[in-house]
Amino acid sequence: MVRVTLYRGVVLMIILVESVYLTVVLRQLALVEEHCDPDNQHPHKGEDTRILPQPTIYVITPTYRRNTQMADMTRLAQTLMHVPNLHWIVVEDAERTSQVVEELLERTGLPFTHLCATTPDEYKNQKLMGRGVFNRREGIRWLRENVFHGVLYFADDDNSYDIRLFQQIRTTKKASVFPVGMILSLGISSPIVRDGKVVGFHDGFQAGRKFAVDMAGFAVNLRVLHANPQATIPTRLSYLEDGFLRNLRLELDDLEPLASGCTQVLVWHTKTHKPGTPSLEHVTHTDFDTNLVGLYRNILR
Ligand code: UDP
Ligand code: MN
Repeated sequence: MVRVTLYRGVVLMIILVESVYLTVVLRQLALVEEHCDPDNQHPHKGEDTRILPQPTIYVITPTYRRNTQMADMTRLAQTLMHVPNLHWIVVEDAERTSQVVEELLERTGLPFTHLCATTPDEYKNQKLMGRGVFNRREGIRWLRENVFHGVLYFADDDNSYDIRLFQQIRTTKKASVFPVGMILSLGISSPIVRDGKVVGFHDGFQAGRKFAVDMAGFAVNLRVLHANPQATIPTRLSYLEDGFLRNLRLELDDLEPLASGCTQVLVWHTKTHKPGTPSLEHVTHTDFDTNLVGLYRNILR
């Protein structure tokens, strides 16, 4: 009798321990599932997000201090905040990184790298000098030293981006290309695609360029960057993109046309209108005891 009771006790104990163990395991599984749930990664309607993990997109943004900088950077930041698996590399054209940009980056909640680089003196007076060359180069240097897998995209701070673009460039194998709206005389720049292959470029500025694309019109897999350790962005105005893609030893055949075979525009080369320069001198002394002083202080930081 005693034996049977003992036996029952042991069996009950085992069942109890097993139940607790099962509950713990099930809870862990639920957590893992929640973590992997594509719904938690802001999927975009109609897109297949079942294949995980997705490659990370490394966005390099050159930026510089000016009246319109915060408007442009806020718009870009809040676009990128909609994109999962994205690392933002912001490189200021300055001697030092600024606090306003640092605070903006922190507010995004995105993984980011905040760098700075200036144009060396010997290039400063060069007539045909491209904009944002040395800060983009600094972003590339950081990528080469720190990241081995993913996709690189250059996103200037003043353009307008459709978030669907990021989901498309994520699977770039070598280099992907796509139209950019509001470019030069034609109002558009686009790869020309025939039978699914890029055969040339529809762009108002050909000028001997093999790749007549805008900086916003292509993305590159980091494997290609690492396979070409010398590849850099040339300094000559209007030849930055062409030079970089040539340096990466790409051929037209390597280019993957996106945006529905380059029939859609998912990025625009917008330019922000330049307003007057705010100055505390615009505040009359009778308003010195109002909000205006604090407002100007904040925008002049
Ligand atoms: N830029 C920069 N330093 C400069 C001028 C521009 O870092 O002295 C950046 C700018 O913030 C932008 C990119 O380089 O992200 C391209 O500049 P901009 O938009 O003025 O050129 P555009 O679009 O007219 O070619
Ligand atoms: Mn621009």
